[in-house]
Amino acid sequence: MKILVTGGSGLVATHLQDILPNAIYISSTDYDLTDLQQVRDMMDEYKPNIVIHLAARVGGIMDNINYPVDYLEENVLMNTNVLKACHEFDVEKVIAILSTCVYPDVVDKYPIKEDELFNGPPPPTNFAYGFAKRCMAAHIDSYIKQYDKKWCYLIPCNLYGEHDKYEEHHSHFVSALIKKIYEANNQIELWGTGKPLRQFMYGGDLARVIKYILDNDIVDSFNVAPEEVYSINEIAKIGKKACLKEKLVVNYDNTKPDGQFRKDVDSSKLLSVLKDFEFTPLKEGIQKVYDNFSKRYNK
Ligand code: NAP
Repeated sequence: MKILVTGGSGLVATHLQDILPNAIYISSTDYDLTDLQQVRDMMDEYKPNIVIHLAARVGGIMDNINYPVDYLEENVLMNTNVLKACHEFDVEKVIAILSTCVYPDVVDKYPIKEDELFNGPPPPTNFAYGFAKRCMAAHIDSYIKQYDKKWCYLIPCNLYGEHDKYEEHHSHFVSALIKKIYEANNQIELWGTGKPLRQFMYGGDLARVIKYILDNDIVDSFNVAPEEVYSINEIAKIGKKACLKEKLVVNYDNTKPDGQFRKDVDSSKLLSVLKDFEFTPLKEGIQKVYDNFSKRYNK
């Protein structure tokens, strides 16, 4: 079986490389997936049986607010081209990655279950990204209906890991937090109020779920998130502890957006299939990220 992974230089793919070393990992320097001809050329070159579609335009809250057109267009184009080419080249299995940003801004009952997907608009702060990812769910569901494909998608919560980006405009919350704490002397500033609730998953956990789905030929689609839900302020405390800087003061800039208040999802459907799966506790995962970051920073 030939496995091709898009987004091959990203956070999740870097974890996947440890447990799926023989797959083909493609980044934007190999092929631009927003260009259908390049996607067809890629499929023609590798002729994969399985595609794990991780590539996306991913970024922080401000980048999403400032560049909604780019988030919508690039993600819709990449997802449409990849799925279309997978159909044209008879790819047997596609595992695509959405995000919990696809869910409505507010729902009646938390944690959110998979059947809430189309029940209201995604949050305004990442409406374009969430909507583009939601379109991919509709697209895959349509391929399943019309062509009986054995394709599926996973809906993970926010991710973090050793291989996340640390540049200011592209980093995700946990990596940005660790860098800020590491570089600070007495205080740091975080956006919003510190009150929003979040689930964060270690990138290696998502990689293990993907491998399990491949190995066991599972065709269903699931939320993927640990049960732990923390406020931003609690996560900042965990970060300070990991960095051995518990006395550092955290100031909140209320003029900056909080983003969605909560979007925690229910992973019971996934755990009914992966019965013994254990997520990495946030404290342990953040410690790993800090240990790795501090070693790299000193070099
Ligand atoms: P990432 O680290 O930001 O990496 C993105 C990947 O997509 C990179 O390999 C990048 O290649 C590739 N890419 C971007 N534009 C491309 C283009 N036009 N053509 C070809 N490749 C392109 O992403 P990640 O954090 O691993 O995320 C993996 C998946 O999980 C994504 O679908 C994301 O939406 C989803 N997800 C992520 C999070 C999170 O918190 N990170 C949360 C939920 C869901 P280059 O390196 O060459 O640019």
